[in-house]
Amino acid sequence: MKRIKIKQLLVTEPKGQQVTVQGWVRTFRNNQFIAINDGSTIQNIQAVVDFNNTEESLLKRITTGACISVTGELIPSPAKGQTVEIKAAQVEILGDSDPEKFPLQPKMHSLELLREIAHLRSRTNTFSAVMRIRHAMAYAIHKFFNDRGFYYIHTPIITGSDAEGAGAMFRVTTLDANNPPKGEDGKVDFKEDFFGRETNLTVSGQLEGETYALALGEIYTFGPTFRAENSNTTRHLAEFWMIEPEMAFYDINDNMQLAQEFLQYLVRYALKHCAEDLEFLNKRAQEEEQSKPQDQRSELSLLDRLKFVSENDFQRLSYTEAIEILKNSTPNKKKKFQYLIDQWGVDLQSEHERFLVEKHFKKPVILYNYPAEIKAFYMRQNEDGKTVAAMDVLFPGIGEIIGGSQREERYERLLKRVQELNLPEKELWWYMDLRRFGSAPHSGFGLGFERLILFVTGMTNIRDVIPYPRFPGNAEF
Ligand code: ATP
Ligand code: MG
Ligand code: MG
Ligand code: MG
Repeated sequence: MKRIKIKQLLVTEPKGQQVTVQGWVRTFRNNQFIAINDGSTIQNIQAVVDFNNTEESLLKRITTGACISVTGELIPSPAKGQTVEIKAAQVEILGDSDPEKFPLQPKMHSLELLREIAHLRSRTNTFSAVMRIRHAMAYAIHKFFNDRGFYYIHTPIITGSDAEGAGAMFRVTTLDANNPPKGEDGKVDFKEDFFGRETNLTVSGQLEGETYALALGEIYTFGPTFRAENSNTTRHLAEFWMIEPEMAFYDINDNMQLAQEFLQYLVRYALKHCAEDLEFLNKRAQEEEQSKPQDQRSELSLLDRLKFVSENDFQRLSYTEAIEILKNSTPNKKKKFQYLIDQWGVDLQSEHERFLVEKHFKKPVILYNYPAEIKAFYMRQNEDGKTVAAMDVLFPGIGEIIGGSQREERYERLLKRVQELNLPEKELWWYMDLRRFGSAPHSGFGLGFERLILFVTGMTNIRDVIPYPRFPGNAEF
């Protein structure tokens, strides 16, 4: 009999019809009530076994973690909190699970512990909810851009350009599978190059993306990026996904507007289409908040935060205005920020960003016009001779979620900057060509996909919003 997904069964009128579900046992109570989950929804369906007419040996195999197939009548459920249940006529074990050894028991697990069993944490409510939302966000990203006439461009993963300066890179090496050279110790000797030239894993698809924006008008990339971030923060991964729209004929204001509309669209989409999972994660986040000291708890629940962000304009202010606010602020009774911001031109630390967002404005902030010295070479130079048309979107609980800018489209200006910074002018010949042949004003930004998922799910560590996080010391599988 064809299986029906639990998500569908829960909205089916129970008339005693025969149905089959297949999934994993979450709990088995009193030799009678099996809670089954098949991943289609956070909800379980209850199957009721007639234990008087079921073999003892079979009952013993219905254990937490086992995979089973149940066929029976779909009937209204007398139990609270569920509309339907299955009166099981036939239970088949598809995959046993030794209850003594199965590492996931139906209690809450610490996330740290679950990171060590990344291959099984997918079976928990938390991780399945997070991954369903991650899927929904990926879909919504494509929908948002498609509806606006943007084209999805695939930029290379292996790239020879290393001029972006976004972070430390991973080098690509090659191995001749038929003839692997052996080092002295007998270990495989990798060649330090990509068929004779040095290449890296991409840190951003922006520069290549620009080449298509100046042909197709509005494009976006959405793919994995790699940065050798040798640090242990809750906001950085060595492999993460980035969405990078790039638009011809957009100035910095158009860019900021798009960033706001994009983020609000995604949050609204989650609220509308992921309600059940968000309800669960909202409760989860609330429990986590309770374990924090009072003064560190966030004022809004996850759901309230999402609604607020989706409905209210982000605060826009320049870097210079932000410095003024920070200079005159006293984040706690004893010390001012001043000791850190004694000089215009320094980069903001995450404590400054969080202060602006969480304490001062109490809403997302878009900071723009940063000092040229702390930003990348390709950002458009402003007429003040000191700042560039950069923008960062800062979110509560996250900090930087988007980094972007209007790009320098003027050949002479860009060339001067490349030379000042001693960048490899020769390697950038193709990028400079865009400014030599039909240059156009254009802008773009990068959204860190996992930071978006962190915000939407209320999870607190970036390692818990990607199936297999890559960070120093973790790349086993
Ligand atoms: P940060 O200041 O947090 O290190 P960044 O300024 O180096 O970020 P950008 O080069 O501006 O990052 O990249 C665009 C976006 O990609 C960031 O706004 C962020 O959302 C995301 N991002 C950057 N680095 C990482 C990382 N190591 N892991 C996950 N997401 C990242
Ligand atoms: Mg960085
Ligand atoms: Mg940054
Ligand atoms: Mg940035």
